[in-house]
Amino acid sequence: MIRLPPELAARIREAAFSAYPDECCGLLIGRQEGDMLVIDGIAESANLSASPRDSFEIDLRLRLRLQKELRGTGRDIVGHYHSHPDAPAAPSQRDRAQAWEPEMIWLIAGVTDGAVGELNAFRLDEAAGRFIPVTIAMLA
Ligand SMILES: [Zn+2]
Repeated sequence: MIRLPPELAARIREAAFSAYPDECCGLLIGRQEGDMLVIDGIAESANLSASPRDSFEIDLRLRLRLQKELRGTGRDIVGHYHSHPDAPAAPSQRDRAQAWEPEMIWLIAGVTDGAVGELNAFRLDEAAGRFIPVTIAMLA
């Protein structure tokens, strides 16, 4: 289970809305608290994909810079988010092809006709080769 504060969920929805009809993307920052993975920050990235309407690519420099900043703080990059313009908030074929880090949370926002709908979280089950839904607790 992950905990996502409502204000961060709102910022992701806003990014998804602004980027439409392209996909938005960014990194999730957080820490483990017992069984709960607590998301306590996000870092928006430019979508560097050559076809941003149906795919995303996070700026690797942003990731490296954040990793350096977070070293020794107990917080880390724990996943990423992106949006699906006019597609369901579930991993696409392309997402499956790109997934290779089983420890990362995938947060996907569905956008339909410019309106942001569902926000869903997934984690890759590498052995099974598929994404597994992760419950989001929307607590402050
Ligand atoms: Zn996707």
